Amino acid sequence: MSNKFYYIFRSSELFLTKDYTLPTSLPESLADSVIDSLDLVLSGRAAHAVLLRDEVPRDSIVSASVSGSHSASVDGLDGSWIRLRALTGSEDPVLAPLSAPACRALGLLNWHNSTRFCGRCGHPLEEHHSEIARRCPSCNHVFYPRISPAIIVLVRKEGKILLARHAARNQEVFSCIAGFLEHGESLEECVAREVREEVGISVKNVVYAGSQSWPYPDQHMVAFYADWASGEITPDLAEISEARWFDPDNLPNSPMRGTVAWNLIHGVFGASSKK
Ligand SMILES: [Zn+2]
Repeated sequence: MSNKFYYIFRSSELFLTKDYTLPTSLPESLADSVIDSLDLVLSGRAAHAVLLRDEVPRDSIVSASVSGSHSASVDGLDGSWIRLRALTGSEDPVLAPLSAPACRALGLLNWHNSTRFCGRCGHPLEEHHSEIARRCPSCNHVFYPRISPAIIVLVRKEGKILLARHAARNQEVFSCIAGFLEHGESLEECVAREVREEVGISVKNVVYAGSQSWPYPDQHMVAFYADWASGEITPDLAEISEARWFDPDNLPNSPMRGTVAWNLIHGVFGASSKK
């Protein structure tokens, strides 16, 4: 029996025991599915993070808030797979504290699993002796965990908010405008560019709202509010299939609790949400 907590992931689902706590060992039936693992310190104590092949039966995942009333046996295991996104939005006193260390564990596992060879010379990488990093024994280049900054913005106009359906994502859900930061631009410039490119309008009063780890696989979402300045909504039809102004009291299907978009839409980020 190990005294370490195990953070076991398949894709973005975390395995918890039937009591919704972290296991202290890897269930035997999962051992053959391990594709990567890391020893880490999470929440101040030694932990072992494990990434499994993505073969989760979708019907065995608990996606709603966890009340303890769910069946505790899935996949023949004495426990449950919980969506990390649901943990992040949970107000459960047992589950909510798991969100931050689990996001760290998953982000590092995703990085570690996709950073196996030197990008300069192609040599297989080794673990760095003292840091969370990988080192090339051939050319000495050191690869640190990658975090990709991205913006997400809620645009407001005369009491209404702009939400869009994303062509490549869940088509039933209207969400905020989002996109990756590019070299050479500020986060505020990124906000203005993404809104202009995706829905054809100009914004002003871009203000920082908050930020959140989003390890799917390696983003850090930086959230903003902005006000409409000029232009008519014109979806680009490549990334955005439809965009409209919505009354905050009459919202369409929108992202689940725990997402950055939910926090923006529901004013969890700062006092500047309502205007
Ligand atoms: Zn190299």
